[in-house]
Amino acid sequence: MTTIATNLQQVRGRIAQACAAAGRAPDSVSLLAVSKTFGAESVVQATAAGQRAFGENYIQEGVAKIAAVGRACAPALQWHCIGPIQSNKTRLVAEHFDWAHTVDRFKTAERLSAQRPDHLPPLQICIQVSIDGGPTKSGVAPADTLELVRAVAKLPRLRVRGLMSIPDHAPDFEAQLAKHTSARRLFDQILALGEPGLEGFDTLSMGMTADLEAAIQAGSTLVRVGTGIFGGRTYPAP
Ligand SMILES: *Cc1c(COP(=O)(O)O)cnc(C)c1O
Repeated sequence: MTTIATNLQQVRGRIAQACAAAGRAPDSVSLLAVSKTFGAESVVQATAAGQRAFGENYIQEGVAKIAAVGRACAPALQWHCIGPIQSNKTRLVAEHFDWAHTVDRFKTAERLSAQRPDHLPPLQICIQVSIDGGPTKSGVAPADTLELVRAVAKLPRLRVRGLMSIPDHAPDFEAQLAKHTSARRLFDQILALGEPGLEGFDTLSMGMTADLEAAIQAGSTLVRVGTGIFGGRTYPAP
């Protein structure tokens, strides 16, 4: 087995174990393989080991990789944009990705909706929430999240799927759990409203290599794992 296949098996094992510890069904958490800084050949290796969903942070790197892998790899893959989306990059995201996890302003969402090609299904959106951040961090403030979710839900070419968060590093499991639980509470509050346009609100994107157990305990439905699958990132991305 390649290292990537072995790593994937280990990460799937961690997810299964965390689900068991939390009393959750093993298929209630999906795995997003974060392939940023790694080449198309790494993605192809992961697909050979059964992985279908990939996350990219840097839009241009992601678009080039999607094209390269598309030629190399027959089965349909799902591509998630998980990096900051500047206004001049919305068109690339709308045309090439299936999901965007990092929408934190209405203006970005408006552009993504306007630029989403008609022949593609709606772009699947998570609203990024700054659960512990100051004003300089990406993500909408918890108090402003519902208003943004409602506004984005009205845009025709987008589908709001849930919330995403990247909490600051926390030293131990309990501290990680506390942060992820704040995001879970916000998610539950919005879900409980049962509003029109939020029928597809089912995704809580949180947890990475270092804290996926705590995220799953708190209710994550999608963990974003890079290092645990592809290894350490050795060169800085653009
Ligand atoms: C890089 C990145 C990840 C993956 O981080 P690892 O610690 O390598 O698992 C997940 N989410 C986002 C938003 C990232 O930028």
